[in-house]
Amino acid sequence: MRKEAPKKHSLRAVPNDAERPKAADIVEPSASDICPKCYGSGMEVVPGLGARICECRKRDAHSVRLAKARIPKRYEKCHFNSYQSTANESQKRALNACVEFANKYPAVDHGILLTGPVGVGKTHLAVSIIKGLTERGFPGLFYEFGSLLKEIQDSYNPNTRTSESGILAPVLNADVLVLDELGSSKPTDWVQDTMYHVINSRYNDRKFTIFTTNYPDERPSDGRETLEDRIGVRARSRMFEMCRTIRLDGDDYRRRL
Ligand SMILES: [Zn+2]
Repeated sequence: MRKEAPKKHSLRAVPNDAERPKAADIVEPSASDICPKCYGSGMEVVPGLGARICECRKRDAHSVRLAKARIPKRYEKCHFNSYQSTANESQKRALNACVEFANKYPAVDHGILLTGPVGVGKTHLAVSIIKGLTERGFPGLFYEFGSLLKEIQDSYNPNTRTSESGILAPVLNADVLVLDELGSSKPTDWVQDTMYHVINSRYNDRKFTIFTTNYPDERPSDGRETLEDRIGVRARSRMFEMCRTIRLDGDDYRRRL
């Protein structure tokens, strides 16, 4: 049993009237903080119909889903309605396909691979899919390919391997995962094995993945690398089975501006 420390009784100065907090200084929760519909209870009473979950709780739940999606701050403002697709047909097609995915999920058959040069809005569309899903009450998860690999590497503990699986578990289990900038890391054997593990596990568990990449499938005339060079033949061939490939063309919007 824990011994109780001897109580100390010390004399305290009693504040005089001038120092005593006045009623006006005591901060009561202001009326504007309390939801006017449910008065903070979370249940809104609709006369003649009964009670229902208040809008304010739905908003809170959405903020939690959005925070769990881990969308980087610089993409916070991305949404379908802010996508500039007027530039060309391929961007309009991509926008339509992504809106359709976000609206129809989970009644969809395939994930999406958005491929095309830098600055045509691939990440913008991928983030918008997550936004659309969280608004409809579904969770999503965003990861940049490079930072995912770095997190796995940093957490790698050769003795236990526990933290590695700790990082990977949410990536493997997310119902919808965005993997941005696929192929951006130097394609070592470890990188290719790790990617195959992620892609293949998600394929086997019938989870949906939205990929973006700057690497094309066809080898460019200047001999630059293909997506297959970067992530390996096995991973690319799995992706053909799990994703619809949508190619975007256009100029870098950062240069257009
Ligand atoms: Zn409320």
